Amino acid sequence: MITVNENFLKLKAGYLFPEIGRRAAAFARANPKAAIIRLGIGDVTEPLPTAVCTAMRQAVEDMSTAERFCGYGPEQGYEFLRDAIAENDYRARGAEVLPNEIFISDGAKCDTGNLQEIFGLENIVAVTDPVYPVYVDTNVMAGRTGQADSFGRYDKIVYMPCTADNNFVPDLPSEPVDLIYLCYPNNPTGAVATKEQLKKWVDYAKAHKAVILFDAAYEAFIQDDSIPHSIYEVEGARQVAIEFRSFSKTAGFTGVRCAFTVVPEELVAYTKEGKPVPLKPVWNRRHCTKFNGVSYITQRGAQAVYSKEGQKQVRQIISIYMKNAAMMRQSLSKLGYAVYGGKNAPYIWLKTPNGMGSWEFFDLLLQKAHVVGTPGAGFGAAGEGYFRLSAFNHPDKVTEAMERFACL
Ligand SMILES: *Cc1c(COP(=O)(O)O)cnc(C)c1O
Repeated sequence: MITVNENFLKLKAGYLFPEIGRRAAAFARANPKAAIIRLGIGDVTEPLPTAVCTAMRQAVEDMSTAERFCGYGPEQGYEFLRDAIAENDYRARGAEVLPNEIFISDGAKCDTGNLQEIFGLENIVAVTDPVYPVYVDTNVMAGRTGQADSFGRYDKIVYMPCTADNNFVPDLPSEPVDLIYLCYPNNPTGAVATKEQLKKWVDYAKAHKAVILFDAAYEAFIQDDSIPHSIYEVEGARQVAIEFRSFSKTAGFTGVRCAFTVVPEELVAYTKEGKPVPLKPVWNRRHCTKFNGVSYITQRGAQAVYSKEGQKQVRQIISIYMKNAAMMRQSLSKLGYAVYGGKNAPYIWLKTPNGMGSWEFFDLLLQKAHVVGTPGAGFGAAGEGYFRLSAFNHPDKVTEAMERFACL
C-alpha cells in the first residue's frame, strides 16, 4: 500500500491569495463596472530594464551559432554572473563574498524553501510573525513541526511577534532555537533592520551554534544609507548566516526567474556528536543533484543588471515604486492611519482603523473603494489588525487608489 507523506496533511490550505482572489472575483462579478485597483500581490508592474533585454537578445544570438551555443552550464551558475555579484553586491559594500560561495538559482522562493533540507529534522525553527509563508510551510512538509492550532501556528515552531512595539524586528527568543529565518527589508511589514539589530542576531547565532537564513530579496529598495543591504556587512555573519537574493523585485525578473544564495566557506552545522561540518559542500551537493542550472540567456540578462546602463535603469524603476510608496505613506498618514514601512521597502503596513479585523478591512476597502490589499492576518497571527498595501503598480493607479481611500 502506497502511503502519503502525512506532513503535507498538516498544512493549512493555501488560504491567503486564493481567498483574496475569490473575494475580488465575486465582487467584480457583482459589480462589473467597478474599476478594481490591485495593491495586493507583490508582483512588479514595470517592464524589464532595456539593458537586460538587449543582453538577452544577444544571448539568443549566441545560442544560434555553433561556436557560442551553450548546453548544460555549471549548476552553480556561470562565472561571469557570480563574479559580477561578488564584485557589485558585496565587495563594493565592504562585505566579503567570494564567487564560489554564490549559487545561482531560479528563485529565492525555491532557495528559501529548499535550504532547510540540509539541516536535521530535530532543529527548532524560529520565524517572525507575520512571516513569508514559504519558510514555515517547507518546514512543515519536511516534518520539522507538529500540527497547527486554530491560529495556524504549528507546534515546535517558535514564533517571534513583530509589532509596532518592537519596530517589527523581533526580540531574541527566550527558548533555544537553531534555525532562524529573518527577512529585511521585510515582506510584509516593510520594516528594515539596522546593523546593530542584526549584530544582536549574529551574536546570538554564534553563542547558540544556530544558523540565520537571511532573505534580502528587497535590499535594492533600501533608501537609507545606514541600513545594511547584506547580513555580511555585520561582523561575524559569515560564520553563522546564509543569504538569499533575487533579481525578481530588484530588476523585474518575477517572470524571468533568477536568484542566488550565498553559503560562506566558514559556515558549519554539527553532527549529533558535535563535530562541525562545513555547509557549503553540503549545499553544493544538494544543489547539483536536484538542479541543473539557470538558462544561459537568463544569466546574461542578470549580468546586464550590473552594467552601467543596467544599474541606472534599475534605479529608475525602483524609484517609480518608491515614489508610489512615499505618496501612499503621505496620503494615508494624512487620513489618520498609522502607517509603517514604505521607506526602504515596497510595502506599506498599516494599522486597520478602529481595531477592525484584517479581513473586515479587506472587505470594506473592496466594497467601498474597489481596492484590493492583503489582510495582515494572512501572514500570521500577529498580523491581525494590520493590512499590507503593495507599491508595485502604476503611479496613476496608486494615486487613484489613495483618492478612493479618502472617501472611505
Ligand atoms: C518576492 C519574494 C522573494 C523572491 O522570490 P523569487 O522566487 O526570487 O521570485 C523572496 N522572498 C520574499 C520574502 C519575497 O517576497
